[in-house]
Amino acid sequence: MNVLVINAGSSSLKYQLIDMSTESVLSTGLIERIGEQGTTHTYKTNCVELTKEEAIENHMQAIESLMAKLADEEVGVVDGMNDIDAVGHRVAHGGCDFTESALIDHKALKAIRDNIELAPLHNPANITGIESCMAVMPKTAMVAVFDTAFHQTMPRHAYLYGLPYEAYADHKIRRFGFHGTSHKFIAKRTAEILGKDIKTLKIISCHLGNGASIAAIQYGESVDTSMGFTPLEGLVMGTRCGDIDPAIPEYLSKKLNLSDNEMNDYLNKQSGVLGLSGKSNDFRDLRHYVAKGDERAKIAIEVYCYRIKKYIGAYTAAMDGFDAISFSAGIGENDAMVRKYIIQGMDYLGLRLDEVKNLSGIKEGIISTPGSKVAALVIKTNEELMIARETAEVLEKH
Ligand code: ADP
Repeated sequence: MNVLVINAGSSSLKYQLIDMSTESVLSTGLIERIGEQGTTHTYKTNCVELTKEEAIENHMQAIESLMAKLADEEVGVVDGMNDIDAVGHRVAHGGCDFTESALIDHKALKAIRDNIELAPLHNPANITGIESCMAVMPKTAMVAVFDTAFHQTMPRHAYLYGLPYEAYADHKIRRFGFHGTSHKFIAKRTAEILGKDIKTLKIISCHLGNGASIAAIQYGESVDTSMGFTPLEGLVMGTRCGDIDPAIPEYLSKKLNLSDNEMNDYLNKQSGVLGLSGKSNDFRDLRHYVAKGDERAKIAIEVYCYRIKKYIGAYTAAMDGFDAISFSAGIGENDAMVRKYIIQGMDYLGLRLDEVKNLSGIKEGIISTPGSKVAALVIKTNEELMIARETAEVLEKH
């Protein structure tokens, strides 16, 4: 079975075609600046890598363009549309309507649309991607895979805020959590590497990319996660502030004379390690500045790591201990010093880091000592593969 994975943004579209018999990637692509000047289409297979400027006015033309590449006589990997068995769409927000991935029919599409108000930047682009795909490939089955669905198992005491209950009942104000596809993948892979049944494990999953979140996964189910009603809550991120006193925005917007939109921008795009360091949101840059003695870059990394440590403490309490902690995504997979800083001093939990392994440039595997009661791992997350797996699973059920 060949599954096409689509991640549609407002002006970009990422895709991957995966052969599920071997879980191998046949091709990947990225179309950027859709509907703008200088639209580019980058297409890669094992044999070629091309980037071309193309006139692509909208998402439908983007899907047509990617189909033309996939079935191209010279650089293509399939004979035609019939060789694509299903399309898996990444969808940001499933609200309370979706606890798992779903076959896209009129009802599902309506529910995704109903959740636009919860993800005004992302769901409309995802819907455009789905509708464009449906128009170009009307006979192909489509599945929606939600960033929020995995966290729908959170208990009430974890997803409710301390606000009047009506805020939840009337306005859906609750914690949803995001990065669900990645956390599910990380937990599964952690169990595989440890050679244990996921249903026996308590796992803390750290997805540390530009956006970052941490999840408590007990016996295969998410019981808490750091992102909330929006992806702004929780950890300090590349440019997002994470948890702050909710009184700060009003206070600061008066001081700085900022509109609601400007305040939103301040918290989402100018904060996090970028705001703290005043230099960059990228840990590779921050490491460079730290090496040159930059104090604010150093502070940014310290605040970043400390917040993660606090959440680990909270989730240890939430799950009455844990068996494994996994680090994933750009920072979690690559920055050994961040992992070290977070884990150090956790001997009291039975967690001992193998310093040599941690610094070995390991891409995936165990980084705790053989005698450590709690295992620490690096996991290479793969959201596209998880979306393709979910898509194949949904189709098998139907
Ligand atoms: P996203 O998908 O949210 O953009 P990624 O998981 O790709 O995030 O992570 C991107 C971030 O990972 C970069 O901003 C950078 O901070 C960090 N990163 C990537 N490579 C390295 C590296 N070799 N060392 C340290 N940090 C890295």
